[in-house]
Amino acid sequence: MITILAGGTGAAKFVRGLSEIVPPEEITIISNTGDDCVVWSLHVSPDLDTIMYLLAGLLDEERGWGVKGDTFTCLQAMKRYDEPTWFQLGDRDLATHIQRTKWLHEGLMLSEVTACLCRSLGVRARILPMSNDRVETRIYTPHGALSFQEFFVRERWSSEVTGVEFHGGQRALASPGVIEAIRESDGVVIAPSNPITSVGPILSVKGIRPALVDTPARVIAISPIVGGQAVSGPAGKLMEALGYKVSALGVTQIYRDFLDVLIIDEHDAALSPEIERLGVRVTVANTIMHDLAAKVDLAKTAMECLRTDWGRK
Ligand code: GDP
Repeated sequence: MITILAGGTGAAKFVRGLSEIVPPEEITIISNTGDDCVVWSLHVSPDLDTIMYLLAGLLDEERGWGVKGDTFTCLQAMKRYDEPTWFQLGDRDLATHIQRTKWLHEGLMLSEVTACLCRSLGVRARILPMSNDRVETRIYTPHGALSFQEFFVRERWSSEVTGVEFHGGQRALASPGVIEAIRESDGVVIAPSNPITSVGPILSVKGIRPALVDTPARVIAISPIVGGQAVSGPAGKLMEALGYKVSALGVTQIYRDFLDVLIIDEHDAALSPEIERLGVRVTVANTIMHDLAAKVDLAKTAMECLRTDWGRK
C-alpha cells in the first residue's frame, strides 16, 4: 500500500502517473480539505474532487480542476440573481456538490460521503479526507483574513500575505483510516503540492505529523519548487511570506522532521549537499510533468526511492 498526501493540481499530475504503474487498490490518498468552501449553500471540496475526478477519468487535465467538457449554464443563470460567480462551478461538477451536501445533511461524515461518491464514479483507489472536522485555511493580509478560495480564486493570489492559519487544525481528528494508512503502508509520498496551503492543513491535524515521524515506512516528497519558483500557483509567495527559502531547501525545512528522501529537479541538483546536511537524502530527476510519459517516469522514480536500500529509519 502506498499512501499519498495530496493537494490539488500538482498531486493530480503525480497520481495520474502513479496510477499507470500501481494498481488502484494499493493507493490511498489523504486529501487536503482546508480549502473546502460553501458556494450557493453547497459543500465544495476542491482538492478531494480534483483527485476523485482524476481517478474516475473525468478530470479536465488541461485546466487541472473540474469535469472535462463541462458546461456553465447554471453559473450564467446565477448571475441574474446577483450571486457571486467568481468560484466557477460547472454543471456536471454541481451534481457532485449537490449530492455531497445532501448526504452531509442526512448525517453522513465527509469520509463516508467521499467513499460513496467514489463508489458511484468507479474510483477504486481509496480517497480519505484528512479530517471529518472543519479545518479552515485562513490567509492573513493587511486588509484582514481571507479564506483560501477568496485569496486564490477571487483575488488571484495578488494580496500581500502576512500569515497563514489552519483554523481548527489542533482540535481536528484525522478521519478514520488516515493514521493507519501512514503507519501501515509500504511508503508515504508527499505529492508535489503547495507545502503551505495544501500539505500544511493535513500536517496541522492532530496526530498526522507524529504519525509521519514515527511510521516505519519511508517518507518521500517531490519538491513543488523548481529553479527558485513554484511550477504553478502561490506556493513560492506563501513560503516567502512565512520566512522559508523559495527553493527545494525551503521545502526540506518544512518537512525535515519526518522526511527521508526529497526528489528535486535536475535544475536544482546543486542544492543536494545542503539538503543532505539537513539529514534528508536527495534524488535528482526531471520533475516537470508536462506529459503522461513524464508523469509515469516521476512515479517510477518515486517508487524506486521507496525501494532503494538506504537502510531503514
Ligand atoms: P496550489 O495550486 O498552490 O493551490 O497548490 P496545489 O497543491 O493544488 O498544486 C500546485 C502545486 O504543485 C504547486 O506548488 C506547483 O508548484 C506544484 N506543481 C504543479 N505541477 C508540477 C510539476 O509538473 N512538477 C512539480 N515538481 N511540481 C508541480
